[in-house]
Amino acid sequence: MGKLKIAVYPGSYDPITNGHVDIILRGLELFDKVIVAALKNPSKTHLFSLEERIEMMEKTFDKCEKIEIDFFEGLLVDYLEKKKTFTVVRGLRAISDFEVEFQMALMNRSLKDKIETIFLVPSINYSFLSSKLVKEIYKFGGEIKSMVPDIVDEKLKAKYSQKQ
Ligand code: ADP
Repeated sequence: MGKLKIAVYPGSYDPITNGHVDIILRGLELFDKVIVAALKNPSKTHLFSLEERIEMMEKTFDKCEKIEIDFFEGLLVDYLEKKKTFTVVRGLRAISDFEVEFQMALMNRSLKDKIETIFLVPSINYSFLSSKLVKEIYKFGGEIKSMVPDIVDEKLKAKYSQKQ
């Protein structure tokens, strides 16, 4: 059997949106397996805990063997080594993403030369969507069900009704 092509798609996923889902599905066209890895970063404030973010991702991709949901702490390059791959997938929405993504890709490569970052472009419907925007809209009682998986819609509504 040939070697499996594995890619890691790292991010905050606070929470996962249909934009992320779109990138993951596109990734599956190119790779045998996509590992969606949520960053565990205690210095960053998240709306959802790591456990909640992971639970929502697991429920979104119920029973898909080609997708692994995981988390990582520390350097992405160390996590890639653990997962035995050199390939990172990231999504590019607009020019505004480019600078940060470019810097990160080159930084990861300077830490390890073999690392390649593959940028995928989402469907135009999701190209303006971000976790941050989704949270803002829910916070003010807006409805954008079509922008997030069902489980995320439920959890966001619950989170904000608790807070009020
Ligand atoms: P980070 O904090 O690492 O940016 P995010 O969860 O916000 O984590 O994003 C993870 C990756 O997914 C990034 O490469 C980001 O550009 C990409 N991404 C986020 N939202 C979308 C979207 N709507 N369409 C395409 N890519 C997206």
